[in-house]
Amino acid sequence: MSNRYEEIMERGRRKQAVYTSFLKSLKKKRIPQLDAMFIKANDSAFQHINCLSCGRCCSHLGPKLNDKDINRLSKTQRMKPVRFIDSYLRRDEDGDMVFQSMPCVFLGADGLCLVYTDRPTACRDYPHMDSGRQKNRIPVHIENLLHCPAVILATEYLYSAGM
Ligand code: SF4
Ligand code: SF4
Repeated sequence: MSNRYEEIMERGRRKQAVYTSFLKSLKKKRIPQLDAMFIKANDSAFQHINCLSCGRCCSHLGPKLNDKDINRLSKTQRMKPVRFIDSYLRRDEDGDMVFQSMPCVFLGADGLCLVYTDRPTACRDYPHMDSGRQKNRIPVHIENLLHCPAVILATEYLYSAGM
C-alpha cells in the first residue's frame, strides 16, 4: 500500500472517535438525501484512490460468498462446487462462507484479482457506500474506518459538508 494511503489510514486512526461519533449521529438524524450524499462522498473518495495501489480489503478482509459466487468461481476453477468449498472456503462464526485464509488466495503477486470478472458480489460492492440504504450500513462503515482509506475520505467529505 502506498505511503499516501498509509497516511490516510493513520489520520483515520487518530480521528476514529470523532468520525465514529459523527457517523453514529447520521444514523440518528432524518436526512432524506443521505443515500445521495454517500454516493457523492464515495465518488469524491475514489477520485483520490486507486484500489490497485491499495489492496487492503483483499489482504486483510474476506468477502462473504453466496451460492451464486461459489457456483461462478467453481466454474472458473473447473471444480465442482463441493470441491471448491473444501479447497478454499470455511464457515465463519456467523455461519457465512468466507475464504479459508487472508490474503485472499485469488490475489495475484501484482496486486490484481485473478478472478476479477467472476469475483464475489461482496468484493464488487465493497465498501458499500454507493448502493443500498446507507442508514443501515453505518455500523459497517464505522468498522471499515479501520480498514479502507476510501471510507475515511468519504467520511471526511460528509463531515466537512456539515451534515
Ligand atoms: S476498496 Fe478500500 S480497502 Fe479495498 S482496495 Fe479500495 S481503497 Fe483499498
Ligand atoms: S476475490 Fe479478488 S477482489 Fe475478492 S478478495 Fe479475493 S482478490 Fe480481492
